[in-house]
Amino acid sequence: MSNINMSKEHIENARMLIRQFHNILPVKVGSIASKLGVKVKISTLPTGISGEIKKEDNTYIIKVNRHDVKERQRFTIAHEIGHFILHKEMIGDGIVDDALYRSKLSDRLEAEANKFAAEILMPWDLIKSKIEEFRDLKNEELYEALSKEFEVSTTAIKIRLGKL
Ligand SMILES: [Zn+2]
Repeated sequence: MSNINMSKEHIENARMLIRQFHNILPVKVGSIASKLGVKVKISTLPTGISGEIKKEDNTYIIKVNRHDVKERQRFTIAHEIGHFILHKEMIGDGIVDDALYRSKLSDRLEAEANKFAAEILMPWDLIKSKIEEFRDLKNEELYEALSKEFEVSTTAIKIRLGKL
């Protein structure tokens, strides 16, 4: 089997594992990390750094900035899981993400990690059913309500809905 097929299979397996956590809201992103064998540490990181992933003693560790709000920490963990699944061979001595999720990786790879994070935290079927549940709400009220349900920022919701 070619490397590309193996990597596709590996990504598909990870997606299947993640789907098992899509029965409860907000999605338990810490549990997903631990199921994948990744340790999460809420850490004191330099100002302007949201998170990082690196390998220490054969274990992948995600560090997330303790000064960020919970919603941002959750997105950061999901983003770093994205790097772990999609860009594992590029982690090297670590990937450090600033507050705009920029790192040593290209913008294209960062966008992939952001998209993967959105899939983890805001699966489409749940977004659709919540929009149906909140059908009396419009615009900002709807984004607020979804933000609370999914425990993500309203910005993350708007990006997911193509409103930003
Ligand atoms: Zn990143």
